[in-house]
Amino acid sequence: MHDADQPIVRIGHGYDLHRLEPVAPNGPGRPFVLGGIRIDHPRGPVGHSDGDPVCHAVVDALMGAIGGPDIGQLFPDNDPRWDGQDSEVFVAESVRRLHEAGYRLGNMDITLVCERPKVSPHKDAILANLARMLGCDRDRLNLKGKTHERVDAVGEERAVEVHVVALVHRGAEPE
Ligand code: MG
Repeated sequence: MHDADQPIVRIGHGYDLHRLEPVAPNGPGRPFVLGGIRIDHPRGPVGHSDGDPVCHAVVDALMGAIGGPDIGQLFPDNDPRWDGQDSEVFVAESVRRLHEAGYRLGNMDITLVCERPKVSPHKDAILANLARMLGCDRDRLNLKGKTHERVDAVGEERAVEVHVVALVHRGAEPE
């Protein structure tokens, strides 16, 4: 894919949803982790890996931008290797594939839809950690926290949802 006929910029979209359940030992929920930042909350995502929906949507946005495999193809949820896996490993692989394809991250816009916990107190920590994982400046990333107005599964605190749009550009990072 490393050729001059490829577009200068490409765009990718990622989406993820995880069901929220009481955290063990009270239920099957895993500790709540968003963008690699652990948040103290009685409910957490059910998932094969650590269930971090921010990281999962980030991977799908980057892979979507380069026409790569989706996260389920890269890291199947029936593979015992990924049981409880820290999703940072998935993000690292997507960044490796992005660079291998000859692209760099331009910017990324993340929308996290979650009734509780409130995301705003954790926003800076999540963005700083994502910037570290992605190897980019913090100002390339944006995070918006929204509620679901107390309706439907997300609004009833039974799920968390994340949307990510990523713009990537060809070539080396400008100096
Ligand atoms: Mg997921």
